[in-house]
Amino acid sequence: MSEVQTMRGGIDSSQLGRVLVHEHIFVMNPEFVANYRLDFDEEAAIDGAVAELDGLKALGIDTIIDLTVLGLGRNIPRIARVAERTALNIVVATGAYTFDHVPEPFGFWGPGLLCDAPSEPMADLFIRDITEGIAGTAFKAGELKCAIDKPGMTAGVERVMRAVARAHMATRVPISVHTAPSIQSGLDAQRVFAEEGVDLCDVIIGHSGDSTDLDYLMRVADQGSILGMDRFGIDFVINTAERVSTIVELIKRGYADRLALSHDCASWADYLPTNELRHQLLPDHRYHHVCRKVVPALLESGVSQRDVDTMLIDNPRRHFEGSAKRFRERK
Ligand SMILES: [Zn+2]
Repeated sequence: MSEVQTMRGGIDSSQLGRVLVHEHIFVMNPEFVANYRLDFDEEAAIDGAVAELDGLKALGIDTIIDLTVLGLGRNIPRIARVAERTALNIVVATGAYTFDHVPEPFGFWGPGLLCDAPSEPMADLFIRDITEGIAGTAFKAGELKCAIDKPGMTAGVERVMRAVARAHMATRVPISVHTAPSIQSGLDAQRVFAEEGVDLCDVIIGHSGDSTDLDYLMRVADQGSILGMDRFGIDFVINTAERVSTIVELIKRGYADRLALSHDCASWADYLPTNELRHQLLPDHRYHHVCRKVVPALLESGVSQRDVDTMLIDNPRRHFEGSAKRFRERK
């Protein structure tokens, strides 16, 4: 057992219940929204999020990890207004989301840069989010997040990744990384994390579910990390049937304890011109898809309820407990 920080404060890891490991509530570029999405109605967006998250709770999900970090429009006061009205646990994250450069404010600020710093300022800020609270609030981050996509291990991506690894080593908080399995970037992330001393068991390799390449997925999982089968409903990459059959095959090969489920979904997002269009183009990309369609499809394909529970309950719990245990052992 260990304490996990949520928007309700610290809870025991045994209280996490069924967890969707990679979700969002609001995803946006705040400057774009302020200038070009004049339809954004804060109150309506909050009401909509509460209704959708309550619906998820009614389907049996107890916790989501909201991986909205710097670069995706993190706004903790807005999340707090949602969290106080829903029974769902929300774990929020710190870190940064970039595929190439460091976030602009760090371009000239850091060790050896114009504004020289004795230590990596991103790591220091991420640690503050975890230990003191985010943006002057009492809400603490319970997860660390970074990304590596098609451009690969650029200098900026590597700097963020090492900052995330250092924040992990200094705290008990585990890591989730956005990857692009088409270029096998999960392996690149694992290499950098390992160089920083991270136990790869404490990492979720996100978006692994975008791949049907079993050899690649097993190589990642064999190093101890959890595979994020976490984009259910994003059918234009690969469809639900392909995502399900990849999980079925991995479970047959003994990997049930290395898989976690999710959608990478948001209640409100600006990556398509309107929410209506988003729902029209991605009809299954909603919070209820895993419960309503994916779990029944897995069970029909011969996956046991025990294995479903392993993916939704045991693996996310171990993600937090294992990281906390190793942190204690390091001290
Ligand atoms: Zn995401």
